[in-house]
Amino acid sequence: MGIEIKTKGELFIISAPSGSGKSTLIKMLLEEVNNLEYSISYTTREPRAGEVNGKDYFFVSEKEFEEMIKDNEFIEYARVFDKFYYGTAKNQVYSRLEKGIDVIMDIDVQGAYQIMQKGNVDFTSIFIIPPSIEELKRRLVERGRDSVEEIEKRLITARDEIKYLRHFDFVVVNDILEDALKSLKSIVVSERHRVLRIENIYEIYKHFTEE
Ligand code: ADP
Ligand code: 5GP
Repeated sequence: MGIEIKTKGELFIISAPSGSGKSTLIKMLLEEVNNLEYSISYTTREPRAGEVNGKDYFFVSEKEFEEMIKDNEFIEYARVFDKFYYGTAKNQVYSRLEKGIDVIMDIDVQGAYQIMQKGNVDFTSIFIIPPSIEELKRRLVERGRDSVEEIEKRLITARDEIKYLRHFDFVVVNDILEDALKSLKSIVVSERHRVLRIENIYEIYKHFTEE
């Protein structure tokens, strides 16, 4: 029988200014890459049309969210756009990583920075950026989901968020969607080949050294 390399699951943190195409890319990535699962966040915002509780988000009240904070259930949480709480629960991440399943999380830049600063979880961080601020505005307008004021706020936030780029491991410019997807996929795949992540290295040595 041949060797099988066993690795721990890896946590992929994806951040991007709103409208960059992060949700679009993550959805496509999940369809194309096996052994990769999405961490469903908790939020206090209302569901949008078509969003499903327990699939897109866990929609909870402000009180429930604050209970979870008190009970130390989050890896990170933030108030995004100064409005609603968003957070990643430990129960969405750790058990999967232990089983060798890679986890991808879509979180805002503040949340990603929190995880980087804490330094108690292993992760690979990827920053997705649009090709220009004009194109970002065009995508936000075309998506037709946010009000003019909301779009202005997102553009101001984007100018702030870009300053955190240097803290990330990888950057992907989402200009041509298919190209960005290819880059994202190659990052995920190469992380899976890191020797440092192999859990059964002695089994592999043994396989090649024992007669
Ligand atoms: P985010 O999750 O980062 O807020 P979305 O995935 O909702 O962004 O994408 C914002 C809008 O831009 C959507 O209407 C989406 O269809 C569009 N979009 C995403 N990627 C591209 C791309 N590479 N080229 C053109 N439009 C794109
Ligand atoms: P939306 O309301 O458009 O779904 O998401 C708004 C922002 O919240 C996005 O930038 C998204 O990345 C971020 N977000 C979603 N889930 C989480 C989370 O669990 N933690 C943090 N910090 N941000 C999140």
